[in-house]
Formats: sequence, C-alpha cells, structure tokens
Amino acid sequence: SQFELYYQPKIDGRRNRMSGVEALVRWNHPRLGLVSPDSFIGLAERYGLIVRLGNWVLNEACRQVAAWSKEGTHMRVAINLSAIQLREPTLVDKVEEALRKHGVLGSQLLCEITESVAMQDMKITQRTFEGLSRLGVHLSIDDFGTGYSSLAQLRDLPARQLKIDRSFVKDLETKSDARAVVEAVIKLAHALNLTVVAEGVETLGQRDIVLQLGCDELQGFFYARPMRAGKILPWKFEQAANATRPADLATNFGTRF
Ligand code: C2E
Ligand code: CA
Ligand code: CA
Repeated sequence: SQFELYYQPKIDGRRNRMSGVEALVRWNHPRLGLVSPDSFIGLAERYGLIVRLGNWVLNEACRQVAAWSKEGTHMRVAINLSAIQLREPTLVDKVEEALRKHGVLGSQLLCEITESVAMQDMKITQRTFEGLSRLGVHLSIDDFGTGYSSLAQLRDLPARQLKIDRSFVKDLETKSDARAVVEAVIKLAHALNLTVVAEGVETLGQRDIVLQLGCDELQGFFYARPMRAGKILPWKFEQAANATRPADLATNFGTRF
C-alpha cells in the first residue's frame, strides 16, 4: 500500500478550464520518501512487476473517477501504459473489467502510450488500440516527436490525441526551430483529426505561444504540479473562479501551486 496516484490537471486552451487529469504514480517509501516513477517504472518492467503495478494504477484511477462522480464532478483521467502492458493479450479485458467494477464510462478513461512504444510493433498496437477504442477508451500518443513514426502509421492508428514532447515546449521561447516543429506537429495532428496537448508548459510565454499556434490542451507547472487526489476538486473550483476574473489574476493564479 505504498503506491499513490498523483493527478496533474490538463487545461482546455480555448475555454481556459480543466478538461481532465493525468494520473502519475508515486511510491511513498518508508525510508526514501516520495520516489518518482522514473526511478522505479524501469525496474518494475525489468523484474516482471509492471503488469501488476499497471493493473493497480488502472483500478485506482477508475476508483478515483467514480469517487469524483459521487462528489458531482464528471472527470476524465489519463493513465500511462508501459510497452509490456501494451503487449499483454488480456489488457483490453482488464480495462473492461476495471470500468465495469467501478461503474466508469470508457470515455472517462484515456490511455497514454509513448510514441516509441506505440510504433515498436504496429500490429500489436493496432490490435490493442482497436480493442480499447471499442470500449470507448480514448488513446493518446505521448512524448510525440521523440520517436520515429511514419505518417502512414500515424494515420492508421485509432488515436484521439497527440502530446508534444516537453523538450520542444521548453525551447519555444528561445529557439525558432522548436517553434517550427511545434507548429508543424499541431497542423499535422489537426489534419489527422487528432487533438494536441502541449506538455511541460512552465511559463506564460510558452503558454501564449502554444495557444497562438492552436494547441487544444495544455499541461504543465505553469498551471499546476501533479497533486494528491484530494486537492483536485478544490483546485478545479478555484481555477474556474479565477478564470472568470481579469486575465492578470487568472495568470498569477497558476504560479501558486
Ligand atoms: P510522462 O507521461 O511524460 O509524464 C509527464 C511528466 O512530466 C511527469 O513526471 C510530470 O510530473 C512532469 N511534468 C509535468 N509538467 C511539467 C512541467 O511543466 N515541467 C517539468 N519539468 N515536468 C513536468 P513524473 O510524474 O515524474 O513521471 C515521469 C514518467 O513516469 C511519466 O512521464 C511516465 O512515462 C512515467 N509514469 C508515471 N506514472 C506512470 C504509470 O502509472 N505507469 C507507467 N507505465 N508509467 C508511468
Ligand atoms: Ca504521460
Ligand atoms: Ca509525456
């Protein structure tokens, strides 16, 4: 019972309000304190524990969405899937079972898969994506721009969303090539009917640029860091209240978290 899901808000760029959350696992280690997933996901994969951990994440995220529903908030949650989970033949059944058990709609769940993993074995990705799509679960290609997808592959996948890798967003204000890449990715995604998320938005300048380039959703420390489940609804309500006030107040708000 030492794992915990933190949640980071995703913001709808046009309406300036929360559109959902991404679940990010943490390990509350009795001696080491809060351990980041970058330190243990790779180990869990190597030692054959990722399927159990991934299943826990799936169920815990669904349980939390159901709890938010009881509090009157319809929430959409994104979970991250590892390569090994994607290859697991029973993944779709497990997702279906978790949705049923917690009474959550497929459309309330989104699965994020990194570009490099999604393109590793297109047959497997295609099969799993199609199974998940049948449940109404949305799919997102994470860390886009760091792998090697061909346009043909991208067009064939039943994905809904593409997340531009943080490294491009980071350089937006200083490097013109980063801006050109982000602009091209947004145009490409829209041509393929995908929504685009910019991740790792940390500054007002970055936010303004991605909004101007037509990005649909934004995520990053500029708005909020990942937080405990209990903080999400208060954050959402405060953000909504601030969004209706003058722009400068709404802007200052993001930096307090
Ligand atoms: P990711 O899926 O790309 O998640 C985004 C990471 O960027 C998160 O790190 C988040 O805290 C961080 N981040 C968000 N906004 C900003 C920002 O503005 N600036 C900066 N510098 N960082 C930002 P986190 O939580 O440490 O997660 C790291 C990675 O671990 C995730 O990258 C994901 O690949 C993996 N991960 C996390 N939870 C899970 C899980 O449940 N299952 C699997 N398989 N992988 C997970
Ligand atoms: Ca992710
Ligand atoms: Ca990412």
